[in-house]
Amino acid sequence: MRQVLWFRRDLRVEDSALLANASEDVLPIFIFDKNILSKLEKDDKRVTFIYKSILGLKKKLQALNLDLAIFYDEPKNVFENLKKDGFDEVLCSVDFDSYAKNRDEEIEAILPIKRFIDSFILNPNSHLKKDNTPYKVFTPFYKSLNMITQSHNIEEYSANKNLQKIQTDYSFIPTLEQMGFETQELPDFLSKNPIELLKEFKAKVNKYQEERDFFYIDASSKISVHLRFGLISPKQVFNYFKSFNSIDCEFFIREIFWREFYNYILFHFPNSEKQNFNNLEIKWSQNEDDFLKWCEGKTGVPIIDAAMIHLNNTGLMHNRLRMVVASFLTKNLFVDWKKGEEYFAKKLLDYEASSNIGSWQWSSSTGADSAPYFRVFNPYTQSQKFDKEAIFIKSIFKEFENIEPKLFHIENGLQSNLFVEYPKAIVDIKLSRQRAIQMFKEAKNEQF
Ligand SMILES: Cc1cc2nc3c(=O)[nH]c(=O)nc-3n(C[C@H](O)[C@H](O)[C@H](O)COP(=O)(O)OP(=O)(O)OC[C@H]3O[C@@H](n4cnc5c(N)ncnc54)[C@H](O)[C@@H]3O)c2cc1C
Repeated sequence: MRQVLWFRRDLRVEDSALLANASEDVLPIFIFDKNILSKLEKDDKRVTFIYKSILGLKKKLQALNLDLAIFYDEPKNVFENLKKDGFDEVLCSVDFDSYAKNRDEEIEAILPIKRFIDSFILNPNSHLKKDNTPYKVFTPFYKSLNMITQSHNIEEYSANKNLQKIQTDYSFIPTLEQMGFETQELPDFLSKNPIELLKEFKAKVNKYQEERDFFYIDASSKISVHLRFGLISPKQVFNYFKSFNSIDCEFFIREIFWREFYNYILFHFPNSEKQNFNNLEIKWSQNEDDFLKWCEGKTGVPIIDAAMIHLNNTGLMHNRLRMVVASFLTKNLFVDWKKGEEYFAKKLLDYEASSNIGSWQWSSSTGADSAPYFRVFNPYTQSQKFDKEAIFIKSIFKEFENIEPKLFHIENGLQSNLFVEYPKAIVDIKLSRQRAIQMFKEAKNEQF
């Protein structure tokens, strides 16, 4: 049996379904997929991160007497050639977004595929309600998983020790430039390995629930990018924290299961990738100018602009800020969540289709278990509450270092200082909130 181990978003050797389930003669591969890469900007930061991670994976496989064959091609071409070379089957980790599903169907027509749930803890096909339908609300979903979430350990995969590397030429490593990309500077924490990040976070996890919303504090795990590309598995994250009796990690573990929940929702409701989960027909605003100002961080609302500029510069955004900018786009500017979702998909280093779609639908009150439509974050109240001294905002607008913090938390507050050049807010917060609520009532056919 000659097996291809197709690494995609599971770039690790620990807790690896592929290495555990392979039987003997194996060819581990990674494909820089031309179909995906051709759609990305040449300064996409994720490609630099993946590139470094692939080189790291190759070294780790070599330490196990295996190796990684790297391709720069369309998957179809790679597998047609591998079939000619006499391979019998492909092992890979399953992904549920539409591109991944279509790609895998195409490959399956060439070689049989064995799929494993390796990027998530749960098999979304299990864990149905008593009536055999999927959960749509997080809390009962989470409660139903008590046996798992309260356990101290979830069994991890161990690599099969009898694997033999298939002899072939493993030397091809395209450069980023050959693939049309420029090497990007990445945030410092991404040069750390995931266990280092978890160790650092362990010192803060007791305060996580209390501090996680204050976006000027470094209070969260910063593990999402490593999770996204599988440098660590969610099971390993779970087991790491559960291994310490002395720390209270329950709230953090719950967050890890939001990631599971959104993957579960996307699996059971694949249409939610493109349609409002709750089927509401909403007459979104078509104002392209508003949307572009949001993207560029030029709305005249300091917290929104600081968050978007930070995203554009680094590929990062704090969870609270994601909620605030998403509410602002979909409620105050009344722009379709899909436009915001697509923009995040281009920019976020940790972009995960299921979490991003689920969270955007949550923010825009169109999704599973989403925020009620009348819940519209006031961005000024949010910055007053979670960044009172404007520490984060000033870290982006360095020119405003000496401005009184309270001016950032008042609509058009900066304009009261004659020496400040800053655009006037593009929307009136109170009026736009009322408009959003009215439009939702109309969509829901509710009484005024
Ligand atoms: C509009 C919007 C879009 C988002 N898009 C993404 C995305 O594309 N990819 C992504 O990984 N997360 C997304 N999130 C969720 C969340 O913002 C990030 O997971 C979190 O900010 C990552 O930082 P962290 O690893 O320090 O998180 P921590 O607070 O330390 O949480 C630990 C882990 O739990 C998971 N998690 C936490 N909160 C959520 C959540 N609300 N939904 C799903 N998983 C969660 C993540 O895997 C995260 O790494 C989005 C949230 C919003 C509101």
